[in-house]
Amino acid sequence: MKAIIVGGGIGGLTTAIALQAKGMEAEVYEAATEFGEVGAGIWVAPNAMKIYERLGLSEEIKEAGYPYKRGVGISTYNGNVLGEMQAELIKEKHGHYTTAIHRARLHDLLLQQTHSATPGKKLARYEETEHQVTAHFEDGSTATGDILIGADGIKSIARTQMLGDVSYRYTGQTCWRLLTEFPLDFGTFDMMEIWGNVGGLRVGSGRISEDVVYTFITAKRPKGEADNPETLKDDLKTLCQAYPTQIHDLIEATPTDKILRNDLYDFKPIHQWHKGRVVLVGDAAHATTPNMGQGACQAIESGYVLAHMLSETSDVEEAFSKYQAMRIKKAHKVTNMSWQMGKMVDIHNPLGRWFRNLILKWTPASTTQKMQDQLYNLPL
Ligand SMILES: Cc1cc2nc3c(=O)[nH]c(=O)nc-3n(C[C@H](O)[C@H](O)[C@H](O)COP(=O)(O)OP(=O)(O)OC[C@H]3O[C@@H](n4cnc5c(N)ncnc54)[C@H](O)[C@@H]3O)c2cc1C
Repeated sequence: MKAIIVGGGIGGLTTAIALQAKGMEAEVYEAATEFGEVGAGIWVAPNAMKIYERLGLSEEIKEAGYPYKRGVGISTYNGNVLGEMQAELIKEKHGHYTTAIHRARLHDLLLQQTHSATPGKKLARYEETEHQVTAHFEDGSTATGDILIGADGIKSIARTQMLGDVSYRYTGQTCWRLLTEFPLDFGTFDMMEIWGNVGGLRVGSGRISEDVVYTFITAKRPKGEADNPETLKDDLKTLCQAYPTQIHDLIEATPTDKILRNDLYDFKPIHQWHKGRVVLVGDAAHATTPNMGQGACQAIESGYVLAHMLSETSDVEEAFSKYQAMRIKKAHKVTNMSWQMGKMVDIHNPLGRWFRNLILKWTPASTTQKMQDQLYNLPL
């Protein structure tokens, strides 16, 4: 079995490694002229860490990143703790802490394990015969395999050819991501998510190594708005003026070129992930807003389950439908919950925010743990 994988992000590379581990051939083709990832951190949750353990990579990821051994706290901007994720309990049940890591570092580790990866190959279209599928790239070259895996992200060309357009949804929120050398101190927590004094405002911050802190800041903004680099840090400090001074200091210590901005989108869950010899994984199949820190983790799960199903039968359509059946419910649940979470952050009315905080604060630990178990348990 030879798979042509279109898209060399975390989803595409993990799928390639999972296929290789099952003795299949995988060729990755990436549109960008160089492989890489954006300058930001990423949280790799226990469900994804379990898969990387099975693929023999979890130790390297932990060493290159920063496992959150002391847990994650959620609080309001004025210090009212609303909840926490108990790292030791999660480790006991699921064998891993959430590990924060620089995206480029994770991507490098994955790329090193991928047998065949070619940059500068942007899929234009694919063509299928009864026994094969051929990817046609924009530079005029082609690649042929038994199957084609579309791992080409939220704006997937493979998906558009297969299914037509999807309904993209703008959340109304933009997100800044910062990388800072900073002596962050959240006391008993490794990472804090701090909800703001206006709708849409949320700051999440934690180390990705001993010295470097990764922070995200979300706010309600019209789509497509651009920053003024001259005033960006002051603008962010003004936005976060109600926050503890540590957050102001952190923003001040961040070089402006280490601040990224992206409007947050997903698309309404779709109910078909494959057709003929072509199948989708990751954001191409199930893009989600980042509120639960699960987009890449779900891509990793999908790549792994797809490889497993393909190793069980030579009937590719059977493998694809088993993969979809095993993954779709959880992936949709994450997309829907994450969307709802974004709405909870968005509440404009102060009374509404007070009531939301009350509900969060009094959510029983057993409910949170049940949700974590659903997220972190693997389907196989
Ligand atoms: C602000 C923010 C924070 C996030 N934080 C987290 C987090 O902490 N934890 C987490 O699990 N997830 C997080 N996510 C989500 C995560 O980044 C994505 O879900 C994940 O990157 C999806 O991986 P992917 O490989 O499916 O797609 P992508 O990462 O989008 O990769 C797709 C690849 O395909 C390539 N490509 C595109 N079109 C073509 C084409 N036509 N031909 C060839 N190649 C093509 C692209 O260049 C890219 O390399 C976050 C997302 C955002 C926006």
